[in-house]
Amino acid sequence: MDFKRLFAATLLGLAALPAQAAIKVFACEPEWADLTRALVPDADIHTATSARQDPHYIEARPSLISAMRRAHIAVCTGASLEAGWLPALISRASNREIQPGKPGLFFAAEQVSLHQPHNHVDRSMGDVHPEGDPHIHLDPDRLPSIVNALADRLAALAPDDEHAIRLRQRQWQVRWKLETAKWREAATSLEGLSVAVQHSNFGYLLRWLGVEPSIDLEPKPGLPPSASHLSEALADPALDRVRLILIASYQGERPAQWLASKTELPVEILPGTVTDQPETDTLAKLISHIIDRLEHHHRTAEHG
Ligand SMILES: [Zn+2]
Repeated sequence: MDFKRLFAATLLGLAALPAQAAIKVFACEPEWADLTRALVPDADIHTATSARQDPHYIEARPSLISAMRRAHIAVCTGASLEAGWLPALISRASNREIQPGKPGLFFAAEQVSLHQPHNHVDRSMGDVHPEGDPHIHLDPDRLPSIVNALADRLAALAPDDEHAIRLRQRQWQVRWKLETAKWREAATSLEGLSVAVQHSNFGYLLRWLGVEPSIDLEPKPGLPPSASHLSEALADPALDRVRLILIASYQGERPAQWLASKTELPVEILPGTVTDQPETDTLAKLISHIIDRLEHHHRTAEHG
């Protein structure tokens, strides 16, 4: 490790790892594990949640506490997405490096601007998330900045790996640009498509695609669909334009199926994040998959 790199790490307040030591990473959600793996393929990554879980609400289990205690860095969404469990986890793990304001705690949402500040509400908090909508992980335009910031942080943590990290960062950016161009092309056919959603999980991607989430099954962001709200949705004139009900795989199907039974709209259940299935095991593949499914329904609605 040369002096300049050591100095850079010290400036950031990171305890630089010795050469050859694998970076131990605590990823709050699978999307950040995916980005970390793209930059440091041999990182030892513990992912706290899966696509089958609601990332707003998980339990600070003992296995998570010990994983955070062992980690060199935690990579999370931030903007209060994990407000219901991460603070408790951080405090119980009492890892000196993984603390608010320390470089060992990386928040993706702090690297980009957010939609709808003051508009993201959570059951556990019962109040407004002032930062804005934290569900940024499917936004083709925001991910490159997040990757760059994450690469900076990881390179400072493992200065001996910096060269390799920078190379993979550039490769990721090139691949992402190519994918984004493909998605942009698909977006022209999807523009104006109107969908019903449950929460803003897919919101950034839908907005990027020009797809309009005209109906939300949640009465307010973060509140579960209620019978009265669903009746209101059924009477909402905006429903006439809706071609599809889109929910995430961790969400209960009943509200969506109820609305589908009243309207004959198709229900599409998609992973809200990266999974271990080959067609959605990276962020790029997940975005392609979501776009494919939207295109499928769009075509069916047009020609059906
Ligand atoms: Zn949310």
